[in-house]
Amino acid sequence: MWDVAIVGGGLAGLAASHGLRGWRSLLLEEGERLGGRVLTRCQAGIHYDLGAVFGYDPRCVPFQFPRPALIREDEPIAIFHEGALHRGNSVVECLRRAVSERPARWREILAFLREERTASQLSPEAYALLNGFFRLIHAGELSDYGEDAQRDVLHRFHPAHYVDGNGSLVQAFAERIDASIRLRTRVLRVEEGADVVRLRVLKRGVERERTARYAIVATPARVTQHIVVTWTLADRRLLERVSYGAFTVVAIGLRGPFLEGLSYVATPSLPMNVLLKQHTRRPDVELLLAYYGERGTRRLRGKEDARIVQQVLRGLRTVDPGFSRDREPLFTDVQHWSIGGTVLSRECLGDWRGGLVQVSPRIFLAGDYLDVGYPYGMIAALHSGQRAAARVSEALGARRQRRGRS
Ligand SMILES: Cc1cc2nc3c(=O)[nH]c(=O)nc-3n(C[C@H](O)[C@H](O)[C@H](O)COP(=O)(O)OP(=O)(O)OC[C@H]3O[C@@H](n4cnc5c(N)ncnc54)[C@H](O)[C@@H]3O)c2cc1C
Repeated sequence: MWDVAIVGGGLAGLAASHGLRGWRSLLLEEGERLGGRVLTRCQAGIHYDLGAVFGYDPRCVPFQFPRPALIREDEPIAIFHEGALHRGNSVVECLRRAVSERPARWREILAFLREERTASQLSPEAYALLNGFFRLIHAGELSDYGEDAQRDVLHRFHPAHYVDGNGSLVQAFAERIDASIRLRTRVLRVEEGADVVRLRVLKRGVERERTARYAIVATPARVTQHIVVTWTLADRRLLERVSYGAFTVVAIGLRGPFLEGLSYVATPSLPMNVLLKQHTRRPDVELLLAYYGERGTRRLRGKEDARIVQQVLRGLRTVDPGFSRDREPLFTDVQHWSIGGTVLSRECLGDWRGGLVQVSPRIFLAGDYLDVGYPYGMIAALHSGQRAAARVSEALGARRQRRGRS
């Protein structure tokens, strides 16, 4: 029997495994690789991220390691509205410029920013502009989210990134954990028994049972609510309220400059949410990343990747007419995420007990959805994994002490 079974090899599961070094732990991952929504690929000597894209904050990593060089992307940002780019160093500056000839619109936007108006009380134009910035990191639309989350509109990102991508963090975890790792192993069921947790797993078409003293389930809420069968009704209902939006990410390596003097452009009137530019380790190549949220991804359904890439290049030419039609991409890549980002709806935020960690005496939870305040994402995943590991480690330690005394 294992001391602890960890389900899911994303950052939350990796952080949990790291916190449980020294115990007999088993890490079960459905996919062919570790990392979950952190996915770095390499083409033409350039590493790029198709999942979490901004460089992780090293202060949240529970160990020291030689980090790859960070590329800062500090150029101004812009919103593309009514056929023109409105640049600025902050979201507010871009918005003010976009409506510079319509003072009434500006007053409306200000009222929203000062929390005197909600998204549903905005005119279509003001809503589209604010939503344009909101959708930079959110898979859903502004009005889908609770009022606290709506304030994220104001964040101006400095999308710094590591030359080796966020995959170097996954690699660093993999080198430091001592859990037995089982890839391509899908967990179907996690159930608390007498003094044990039973896990039903599926590997190469064969179902087996694994047992452990404790389990940490570090899968997205949508999966967790199905595989864990030992719940209080209240906790289960809580998890059912966490919903997810899809993301489609398109990466295109291009020779020569584009979107000069800009790091990203919010594109509310185009099919994609945002066009983001990254410098690379090659001075002659820049990377274009386009993000489609839930709504845009739904419209892409059935489209071949090559056509999606063409749509992105058309979008780039619309925003940057100087970008010539005959510039051939050096490489392209498309990634679809059905579980992309958490949609923090009013319904979900209303009752959410952030920090829900334990659902039964031996079953603990981890995952980015457990922390509902900004910043979300990788930091939330890492914290949740560390938190769950600390609780399990404490329980295992107490048990060992009890055994020592008896
Ligand atoms: C396009 C995109 C861009 C993003 N950009 C950023 C960013 O810039 N900054 C940031 O901080 N965050 C970003 N994020 C969010 C960040 O990637 C996630 O918050 C974080 O990686 C989630 O980690 P996790 O471990 O909670 O979940 P996941 O990474 O989803 O890990 C869950 C793991 O569980 C596995 N699994 C699922 N079901 C089972 C099962 N039944 N049995 C076994 N294993 C199972 C999955 O395969 C997966 O590996 C982005 C996400 C996306 C999709």
